Amino acid sequence: MTKETFTQMILGAAASVRTHHALLSELDSVAGDGDHGATMLRVMESLEQSFGPGSSPNLNACLRDAGWKVMGVDGGASSSIVGAFFLGMGESSDNSGLATLFEAGLAAVRQHTKAEPGAKTMIDALLPAINALRNAEKQGQSEDEALRNAADAARAGAESTKNMISQYGRARFAGERTRGHADPGAVSIALIFEGFCNGINKSLGVNTNG
Ligand code: ADP
Ligand code: MG
Repeated sequence: MTKETFTQMILGAAASVRTHHALLSELDSVAGDGDHGATMLRVMESLEQSFGPGSSPNLNACLRDAGWKVMGVDGGASSSIVGAFFLGMGESSDNSGLATLFEAGLAAVRQHTKAEPGAKTMIDALLPAINALRNAEKQGQSEDEALRNAADAARAGAESTKNMISQYGRARFAGERTRGHADPGAVSIALIFEGFCNGINKSLGVNTNG
């Protein structure tokens, strides 16, 4: 994985989140405080800065910088989880393949939160996405194909949170009222992976419009 390709993935993720940030806040209003869209916009700005003009040519250095910047976004739970993900990737000693890199990020996230799958959090989208990526890589699929699988798995994971009751974050106080609505953080992860997928296709010069 190169810094150039990852930069396109970041730009893709930022575009995807920007397009849908109102939905994220709307979902967060069901049971939380309605700030999730605004927080994710700030998270995306931090990511873009860390990969933008003047950033290090070294991928791990950019990922670490992104991790610290995102951690510093005062958005509560979600920014510290996304921050931990990038910091974990930045500290990975092996960035040759995307699955290994993302698994290092996931390990850091799992140290950060006790949330298991089924608790209606970001984990419900992140875990299946990274598993799908690992499986695709094992099967010898290319990075863009692997990311397509990951994005689909993240979306299905986010969709599955509709049947769950929030057990973490502010939404846990709303209990049964959260059923029927997707978890905002899980939807964010799905949007980010959809954007990663668009970004990698762009860097490969694949036309995704037709
Ligand atoms: P806050 O809850 O602090 O207002 P946001 O509204 O930005 O933060 O993000 C809410 C999302 O963060 C939730 O939808 C959930 O996915 C995720 N989240 C909150 N707390 C946790 C936690 N302890 N572990 C994992 N994810 C969490
Ligand atoms: Mg909130």
